[in-house]
Amino acid sequence: MSGPCSGPPLSHLQQGKPHPTIDPRCKGCGKCRKNCPMEAITGAAKQVHVIDPEKCINCGACVTNCPFGAIAASK
Ligand code: SF4
Ligand code: SF4
Repeated sequence: MSGPCSGPPLSHLQQGKPHPTIDPRCKGCGKCRKNCPMEAITGAAKQVHVIDPEKCINCGACVTNCPFGAIAASK
């Protein structure tokens, strides 16, 4: 069955939505990644981690869990 091939469905609703950001102070400890309910955070050990805005629900758990204050809540 064929369908429209331009424009991803729904993703336009998610783009640009508020989400926390991880700054270079990140030590790659993985605590935020392990505590994210959406598995929205990825990163290797000792590397700066990254939040996937598509998965993030902006719950704020990572912000409170980071021992290094490297995650800033969305404005
Ligand atoms: S705000 Fe919540 S959902 Fe988003 S990355 Fe942090 S812990 Fe995960
Ligand atoms: S909890 Fe903080 S220091 Fe640890 S991986 Fe996440 S952002 Fe980096």
